[in-house]
This record gives sequence, structure tokens and C-alpha cells, in this order.
Amino acid sequence: MVTGAKRPFVPITEIEHSAFCRPEDELKAKALAEELKVNVRWQRIPTDYLHLSAEELDQRIGRVRQELGSKVTILGHHYQREEVIKYADYQGDSFKLSRDAASHPESDYIVFCGVHFMAETAGVLCGPHQKVILPNLAAGCSMADMAPMHDVLDAWDDLIELLGDDGIIPMAYMNTIAGLKALCGRHGGIICTSANAVAALEWSYRRSPRVLFLPDQHLGRNTGLKLGLDLEEMVTWNPFKPLGGNTPERLEKAKLILWQGHCSVHTRFTTRQIEAARQRFPDVKIIAHPECTMEVVQAADMDGSTEVIRRVISEAPAGSVWGVGTEISLVNRLAKQNPDKTVFCLDPVVCPCSTMYRIHPAYLLWVLEGLAEGVVVNQIVVDDETRHYSRIALERMLQVV
Ligand code: SF4
Repeated sequence: MVTGAKRPFVPITEIEHSAFCRPEDELKAKALAEELKVNVRWQRIPTDYLHLSAEELDQRIGRVRQELGSKVTILGHHYQREEVIKYADYQGDSFKLSRDAASHPESDYIVFCGVHFMAETAGVLCGPHQKVILPNLAAGCSMADMAPMHDVLDAWDDLIELLGDDGIIPMAYMNTIAGLKALCGRHGGIICTSANAVAALEWSYRRSPRVLFLPDQHLGRNTGLKLGLDLEEMVTWNPFKPLGGNTPERLEKAKLILWQGHCSVHTRFTTRQIEAARQRFPDVKIIAHPECTMEVVQAADMDGSTEVIRRVISEAPAGSVWGVGTEISLVNRLAKQNPDKTVFCLDPVVCPCSTMYRIHPAYLLWVLEGLAEGVVVNQIVVDDETRHYSRIALERMLQVV
């Protein structure tokens, strides 16, 4: 039992995660009412949409998408289901998609098929006339939920009191709420993605002797190691313990303070899975996402963001074999797009990202039919002050990469 005022909290999405681990052929979308039978709490939706079959949904999405034309841009994250991503005008990782949204000022509406923090980031980068829509408001991110604003503000106050204003700056992964991005903007910090974390950390060390990295301890640790930091120079900040579970002396000596968050999808990968893959295919190349643990990243042949994983595999020679440590929807798509190579997920149990999975095609249809009738459903709004400061932190990132 943890002593002190706070009790550990497990994001609901984390608890839900295993509800969708299933054999691969059962990943195909069913009527929404069927999918909700596993007892999950998703956003309520008009009952008309609950019982439409996958075929009916597909036909109606196709019709309304055509009707809406360039008024709407649909963005699809790599981890989306096939039945949803097929309608995306642009596919990519969170940052690429936000830039895609910003480069389409002719679209009044951006429908973001991803998770909440991504739609917020698009809202920060888009023009003021554009409305960003998230088809299912329950599509959050368990990792982003592990760094709630009040806990981070408490930690920040403690760190400033101990280390002084010049002793530390914040650096947030893209997978955070807009309020945290704004905290970085206000306090001389920066945002990073998994593609530019090394450059962003170098930028930070040119300005401060210490960095608070949040919310993903694994991306932070993997990045620190790439930059040549020693494990002794990194500490983990447990938000449920005083001073994050550290002594003042330990924090003063640290160069990188890692918020104790993780991705429930990427921490499923293990070194045993890598060993098993190497036994099965002696020529296999292992590529893992840097949200995986340090042990997995070090045992892999290479690591990289979703965009890097996609590029490396598509440019690889025919006949090559790839064991991939990232979300199953993307791995399945890469396997289909590269029929001349063997591409498989390192984890034999198929577990999609349960929050990305919440964008069921019924939700996409609901918001698109709303727009066709002039009704904006599920707009994501970022207040002006948060928008201003989070934009500063995002622009700092753009200057270093
Ligand atoms: S894969 Fe992990 S970090 Fe990405 S949206 Fe899902 S839970 Fe969040």
C-alpha cells in the first residue's frame, strides 16, 4: 500500500486494454452493439448507429464522404482499423497528421481518426476558422492519462523549489494533453515526437543542466541512452510518492527526470519474444518502437517511430524478414503492403491499441452525417491561452528538426 495523500490510479483505457486482445481474424469491425458487449464505456451514440452492419456502415460512409468533398479532411493515424483508415485523406503519425491538417486551410472541418491529444494538437496548429472533430470522445490515450495536469504541476513546483528556476526545463512527448504542452511553452521547454526526441533533448541541454521528460519513461530513457547519458544520471518520478520517490541529493545529481508513464501497447513486447523470433527466422531483423522498454530496444536491430518503421520495411529488399514491435493494425498493414517480405508482430497475442480502436466506423459515420446536416458533433476546442503556449513549445520543436 502506498502511503501519503495520493493513491495510484490506473487509466480506464489500461484496464480495457485486454478486452480487445483476440485472434487476428476477429479484428474485423462488427456492428457497434456487438463490440460494446465486452462491457466497455465508450461515448454514447444515437441508437440508429448501433446495429448497422460493417457493410452498411461502409456504404453510408462512402456516400457522405463524397457529398462533403473538400469541406472535410479526414486524418487517420497508422494505428487505426482498416475499416476507418481506408477513408483517411492522409495517414501518418500524430505530428505529421497535425501538419497535414494545418496545410489544408480550405477544409472547414478536420475529422481526426486518432486519439484526443492528437485532435488537440491539430486544433493548436490549424487555422482559427477550422474545427477539429474527434469521432469518439472516449478515444483518449492511457499514456497521456498517466500525466494529469494537477500531478505534473505538483511535481513541477517541487522541482523548482529544490533546483531553482535555472535548474530544470520540461520536455513533453507529443502524447500529452495540451495543458502540458503549454507548461513546456511557458517554462522554456519543448515538445518532441519519437522521431526527433534526440534532437529535442540536445536542444534542452543547451539551455539547462536537467530535463523533466514526460510522460513516457521508456522513450525518455531510450533517448537519454542514445545521447550518451548513464543510467545513473536518470531517475524516475513516481507521482504517488513525495519528491517522486527520490531523495533531494539524487534529484540534484540527475540529468534526466523521467515521469513514470508508459504505453500499454508497447510495454507488451519482451526480449523473450525477440529471442523466439530469432530462433524461428535466423535472418530476421527486429525493429521496435522507442516506447518499448530499454531491454527490448537494446535487443532489437533498430528502433524508430512509426514513420521510420514504415519506411525501413518498405525500402527493405524482397525476401527480408521483419519482426516488428509496434501496434498490430500497423504491422498487419505493413505485411499487406509488402507481400514480397515476411512482416510479423513480435507479440503473438493480437492486442490493438484499445483507445485507437474506439474509433469504430459507426462513430465516423455519425460525425460525417452530422456535418452533412450542418451539425458539428464532438468538436475539440483548446482555449486561447493554452493554444498560445503550446504552440510556442511546438514551434521550438519545429526549429530543431
Ligand atoms: S499506442 Fe500507446 S501511446 Fe499510442 S495512443 Fe495507444 S496507448 Fe497511447
